[in-house]
Amino acid sequence: MKDSLTGLDRYEVFLGKLEQEIEKIGDDRIAITYTDIKHFKYINDTYGYQVGDALLKDFVDAITTNNKTMLCAARVYSDNFVVANRVNSKYTNDVYRNIILRLNQEREVKFREKYLNSRLQFCTGISIIDKNSQSLDAETVVSNANLARKVAKELEEDCCVLFQQSMMDGIKREVEITSCIPKAIANKEFKVYYQPKMETDTLRLMGAEALVRWQKPDGSFVYPDEFIPFIERSGQIVDVDYYVYRQVFQFLARRLQEGKKVVPISLNVSRVHLSKMHILEYVKDLFQEFRIPFSLIEFELTESIYLENTEKALELVDGLHKIGTKVSMDDFGSGYSSLNLLSRLPIDIIKLDKVFLKNDDLQESDKIIISCVVDMAKRLKITSLCEGVETLEQSDYLKEVGCQIQQGYYFSRPIPQDVFEKFMDERENES
Ligand code: C2E
Ligand code: CA
Ligand code: CA
Repeated sequence: MKDSLTGLDRYEVFLGKLEQEIEKIGDDRIAITYTDIKHFKYINDTYGYQVGDALLKDFVDAITTNNKTMLCAARVYSDNFVVANRVNSKYTNDVYRNIILRLNQEREVKFREKYLNSRLQFCTGISIIDKNSQSLDAETVVSNANLARKVAKELEEDCCVLFQQSMMDGIKREVEITSCIPKAIANKEFKVYYQPKMETDTLRLMGAEALVRWQKPDGSFVYPDEFIPFIERSGQIVDVDYYVYRQVFQFLARRLQEGKKVVPISLNVSRVHLSKMHILEYVKDLFQEFRIPFSLIEFELTESIYLENTEKALELVDGLHKIGTKVSMDDFGSGYSSLNLLSRLPIDIIKLDKVFLKNDDLQESDKIIISCVVDMAKRLKITSLCEGVETLEQSDYLKEVGCQIQQGYYFSRPIPQDVFEKFMDERENES
């Protein structure tokens, strides 16, 4: 049973053949290479299916002709191909990967010329097995190669990646986490913690940042850095952010009703909101529902959001300003900071990233950068805040250079709502 377009085995037949090869693997190694063609759709859309089909046939010729170690090959679907090869014992796995990479690159040159598409690229994942491999089931080893291919596809160049078991562990964790989120929201497992912000001049409490914590039913915590990247990919961060925002609004509204002290709370905004922009409506509705002053809520957008999609970020900042809230640029200095962006963006607060304070004793170079950024912010009439303050020395230096707000373990770690309430109540009695 052959694939009518390419003449290769059908995928089910391929799996059967691979199964047999694995049974008699002995001391050999088998490489399963899974390749797809980046920007193939463009060829189909631009030149039509006939040209697309011709390209696929050419590709099959390229991978099968003179391939003396080939055991079997198939088209999985569309432009996805899988080939199994015996690996020459003189090659290590890394060398084998380099050979495939070089072959891909040579083919790219030829195909880009023939099909007039300079972006065409072959993306390959390779899983190499021997008799001791963790899994020797044909379907699993192909899916491992496919997983490596997906990792490869994220790369700009060197689009060829060897499968590693750790990739599987990452995926398992991702599935585990994303599948738990709806229940975790329903069960109120997400808790809002608050980290105080202090005014440099007086060292008085002037605000706080809301930071989410996930407390599992068994009492254990999952920290944001562990689950946020996964739920950003799945889009579920939107629900978690909204949940956090609602908790904060509710908290402030209750404190106001009780006639107690409140301070502005800043909320983190995931990059995922940018593609949807429902956030503005959601925030407006929250203000309607809870009737708290606009000045009590601020939003933190990371520097990378501004850099990735400046236009959308500007639209969002503009929308938040129209609602009446302040906006800060979070993590300034953590990536490819653009000073020029600072002058173009109508932000109210700049949060210097904690990387500048990574050493207990301040480095001269970090001092220079901090004082320059603070100075520049001042001239641009932007409030400066430094996060990650852990020592008295750091705090004193920030005072010396005129950084207006400070946040960090030196003053307080992020604390649960009830503890933060006590923190605020104590401060109220002081003043
Ligand atoms: P971030 O917004 O930059 O938050 C600051 C992080 O630094 C927090 O980590 C905080 O606990 C930690 N931190 C505060 N002071 C110090 C210090 O003095 N030293 C050190 N070493 N660290 C300090 P956390 O809470 O684990 O949050 C990590 C990141 O997860 C946050 O970085 C933010 O990007 C994201 N995140 C947290 N909560 C939310 C949320 O509700 N929504 C969204 N979209 N993202 C959130
Ligand atoms: Ca933040
Ligand atoms: Ca930050």
